Amino acid sequence: MVYLDNNATTRIAPEVFEAMKPYLTDEYGNAASVHSFGSRLMHPLDLARERLAGLIGAGTKDDLTFTSGGTESNNAVIRSVIRSYPNRKHIVTTGVEHSSVGKVVADLEKHGYSVTRVPVDRNGNLDIDFFKNSLKQDTALVTIMWANNETGVISPVEEISKITREKNILFHCDAVQAAGKVKIDVQKIPVDYLSVSAHKLHGPKGIGLLYVRACVPYVPFMLGGAQQNGRRAGTENIAGIVGFGAAADLAGRFLSDAAAVKKILGLRDKLEREISKRINGTAIAGGKSSRVPNTSQIIFENVEGEALLQTMSDSEIYASGGSTCTAGTTQPSHVILAMGFSEKQASAAIRFSLSRYTTEEEVKKVLEVLPGLVARLRSLSSVS
Ligand code: PLP
Repeated sequence: MVYLDNNATTRIAPEVFEAMKPYLTDEYGNAASVHSFGSRLMHPLDLARERLAGLIGAGTKDDLTFTSGGTESNNAVIRSVIRSYPNRKHIVTTGVEHSSVGKVVADLEKHGYSVTRVPVDRNGNLDIDFFKNSLKQDTALVTIMWANNETGVISPVEEISKITREKNILFHCDAVQAAGKVKIDVQKIPVDYLSVSAHKLHGPKGIGLLYVRACVPYVPFMLGGAQQNGRRAGTENIAGIVGFGAAADLAGRFLSDAAAVKKILGLRDKLEREISKRINGTAIAGGKSSRVPNTSQIIFENVEGEALLQTMSDSEIYASGGSTCTAGTTQPSHVILAMGFSEKQASAAIRFSLSRYTTEEEVKKVLEVLPGLVARLRSLSSVS
């Protein structure tokens, strides 16, 4: 099989699985216990926090809280900020966020908040002047993703963080699709809140990270036990946390290995170049923009994306159409629509997302099979 759906989820790295094993078998204690069989688990937990702090450049591991994933981290930040500033009723975001931000913000809108969605241009780039002008006295939060899950387009996070700092407005960044793909340093780019998810970087599912800069307010939304300094109640998922730490360590090494990064970028670029050459009527969404190296969203004109995904799947080539979290519905990609493409084009978008495990042979197979599949679907639709 050829798995090119790594923005949906990734395989667990073998080293990560090995690191997790003891905590799924013998070391099954509860880290909050008084006895040492449980309390000794604080050590691997702390090590994982240190590794995650390293991955995102946090000065201290004390600013990190483990959650159940990117969705929880995003929900927790937005809910926290509205509790912290009950008199500020304005939120700034974009029209291309993941639904775990988009739907929370839309829900707040129904409950009296005003929301500004900064537009993106045809290349997926944010209108920064529009952004600047949208900030108001009562803006509670700016929530903008680091890298887009569909196109891979990178937001101008450094500029955004400078502007929000100057205006004293809190900035949350959903870095779920950026972490492990590009370098993140929350000291150089001072975001206030950052979300990361383990299963997008060869770690296990069901474990995420929330970074909260020291000195910014945080009101926990998960209440119960006093775990994680009271920031996130619930018995810690030690195996998941250890796996996340191991995955972060591997991701950090990958990012420091210029040849490894170049390899994945080379494969992605080859895929795009050859698809454009071999199949007419294609367009790479955000192709002219700065993007994470593994992601390619391609529009195949006059093709129904779902049908193409299905025929690809029959050939054991796995990719996505639009955001995976909304897959199964036939909604056209909201990201492609926001970039000014038509509904038909948005429904014809396929996302290929590579990983450090992707091989030259896999890309070759896609390039051999895909032109025939597209041609067949186009001829069928011209007949009907
Ligand atoms: N944010 C982005 C940009 C994502 O792509 C995803 C998942 O696809 C999430 C958040 C949600 O992360 P999780 O699956 O860990 O809840």
